[in-house]
Amino acid sequence: MGIANIVFLVVLAAAVLVFASNIRKLVRNINLGKDEQRNDRKGERWATMARVALGQSKMVVRPVPGILHVLVYAGFVIINIEVLEIVIDGVFGTHRVFAFLGGFYDLLIASFEVLALLVLVACVIFLIRREGLRLQRFWGKEMAGWPRSDASIILVMEILLMGAFLKLNATDQVLAARGVGHYIVAGSYPVSTWLRPFFEGMSDGTLIAFERTYWWFHIVGILAFLNYLPYSKHLHILLAFPNTWYSKLKPKTEIANMERVTGEVRSMMDLSIAPPEPSPARIVAGVEVPERFGAKDIFDLSWKSLMDAFSCTECGRCTSECPANLTGKLLSPRKIMMDTRDRAAEIGKAIDKNGKWEDDGNSLHSRITEEELWACTTCNACTQACPVNIDPVNIIMEMRRYLVMEESKTRPALTGMFNNVENNGAPWAFGSDKRMEWTES
Ligand code: SF4
Ligand code: SF4
Repeated sequence: MGIANIVFLVVLAAAVLVFASNIRKLVRNINLGKDEQRNDRKGERWATMARVALGQSKMVVRPVPGILHVLVYAGFVIINIEVLEIVIDGVFGTHRVFAFLGGFYDLLIASFEVLALLVLVACVIFLIRREGLRLQRFWGKEMAGWPRSDASIILVMEILLMGAFLKLNATDQVLAARGVGHYIVAGSYPVSTWLRPFFEGMSDGTLIAFERTYWWFHIVGILAFLNYLPYSKHLHILLAFPNTWYSKLKPKTEIANMERVTGEVRSMMDLSIAPPEPSPARIVAGVEVPERFGAKDIFDLSWKSLMDAFSCTECGRCTSECPANLTGKLLSPRKIMMDTRDRAAEIGKAIDKNGKWEDDGNSLHSRITEEELWACTTCNACTQACPVNIDPVNIIMEMRRYLVMEESKTRPALTGMFNNVENNGAPWAFGSDKRMEWTES
């Protein structure tokens, strides 16, 4: 084992360890939420995941970006099979270790090259749409700063990685044709063969330097990409799968009842039923979280809402379909998801630093205003549009519940109705004993 292999092994081990630690923190952050059972109807869940995450069925509703996205996704995943060969070569000092596959190897390399070209072209088009054409969807208020840069950084990174892959193959071919060192004639190169003329005039030493540079750039770039994911909206590459598996399978507009309130109402309607006992406080990250009506902070949301938040691709399809947003209201379902994710990440960082959570005086309501929450019509156009089955409405409803039930904050138009429900068990200003009086007049 040479020095290069040892360096490679150290880089690989460091990247894997950092990635594993980031994933552990991500799982911890998601589990800061409340428990919720989403393990029923398993067959339907696998089918939903296959259709929505693997088949990208909701992406292709908008055909041009949809098909380009499918290309980038399929290309990136398939080309990374090549990483296996790169890793084995890197560890053991071999070169094109799978070349013994003969014709099948030719087919693999040829398809990787075609896909690499398609990914490269798709990423350039995406970049032009974002930065050149400045599509409104990508320039919403909540996209200012890091979110907009994040999207473009990753596109540039993919362009560079695919470029390095093709140039690596081109230099490799020239060296193999010259019979230099361990370079062997293997594989089929329908795309990179067009790059060969740029390298053919170079000396063997310069070529080897270029080939090694592209090789290292490609593999270190992929490992860096892996560790960039947890800090980026591109985490959806991983989370889209579990998130769609745990999709809400009930009708989209069905709002979950609060068990405790349902129990209270039952006992109100039937005096023989005892009102329910309050649930004990949960201990999360070293602090007691009391039972609350609705959501004050991320601890009061379900773990699925937090997984939703970390799965958000920031594509803005939800906001572009939201009637409240389209009529100029402050509400953007994408911002609801980004704020929830940022708050969960903020709390996660504090726990990492202090070993436990210490109340910082803020909450999810410090980021999401009442005006945004009350603008929602609960139409569910956002959940319908979301390509990874995220449910912003659940977060909005839980936060509204908190405002109404814990803070007594509501819209003036609703105050009368709430008072009537509380006093009469119905939205009208009459007791239930007076309901049939209209028949007597
Ligand atoms: S449910 Fe609310 S947030 Fe979603 S699209 Fe309708 S109004 Fe917008
Ligand atoms: S919630 Fe869904 S539709 Fe909205 S920005 Fe996130 S991924 Fe896109």
